[in-house]
Amino acid sequence: MPAIELTDLRKYYGKGETTVKAVDGLNLRVEKGEFISIVGRSGSGKTTLLDSVGLLMRPTTGTVLIDGQDTTNMKDGERAQYRAHKLGFIFQDFNLLDTLSAVENVLLPARYSGANKKEARVRAMQLLEEVGLADRAGHRPTQLSGGEKQRVCIARALINGPSIVLGDEPTGNLDTETAQKLVAVMRRMNSEHGVTFVIVTHDMELAARTDRIIRIKDGHIVSDDRQDHASPAPADGVAVLEPALA
Ligand code: ADP
Ligand code: MG
Repeated sequence: MPAIELTDLRKYYGKGETTVKAVDGLNLRVEKGEFISIVGRSGSGKTTLLDSVGLLMRPTTGTVLIDGQDTTNMKDGERAQYRAHKLGFIFQDFNLLDTLSAVENVLLPARYSGANKKEARVRAMQLLEEVGLADRAGHRPTQLSGGEKQRVCIARALINGPSIVLGDEPTGNLDTETAQKLVAVMRRMNSEHGVTFVIVTHDMELAARTDRIIRIKDGHIVSDDRQDHASPAPADGVAVLEPALA
């Protein structure tokens, strides 16, 4: 059973002559445990695609299957529950609450999923340790660097034991070196927790480190390339993939 299966997905904004076809007949199957990236120019439909998978918006037509379950006809409350249990989110601008400590931020999604409080706290501390922040659990976001904040977000995304983590430009606000470290953390969590990762990015260096690169243009998939990390990449491999996406 695939983690994600999209069939003829379409999302149109507006009506009549001003209609924007943000996602326009897209089919995609993502296997469990894959780490994939979605690349494409600004306005190509990446966020619309990701938000559809994240059950944050309803497509105009088409179906979204998550872990084999068709979410299309779920009512709003059922979708919210399914989202809380099955999906984790990482945002470009972190979306951390400044009034809460790191561990309290990690725990927030557990509040909404009805998890046992004690167990959730143990798990939150364990996740912070896994992302290398055990000694920062009591810090507020304002006391953390960008890379540290995003590692808190990775822990938060995993707190409910999701099947899939979705990231929209998760390294967009980080410098190159910090972004590379963050990708390494995400890859480790991907393999250790068996969680599927789908990352939208402009950054071809990040994309080159994923298992599979899906390129979209005008709401369509224009290429779908599996990456072989077993063989060493050519020195200029990243440049060959895409000179300028942004
Ligand atoms: P990307 O994330 O690749 O930059 P988006 O999915 O955000 O692309 O947007 C795809 C297209 O849909 C763009 O042309 C954008 O202007 C349009 N769009 C996105 N959201 C809305 C909206 N809420 N209303 C109208 N048009 C939108
Ligand atoms: Mg976007």
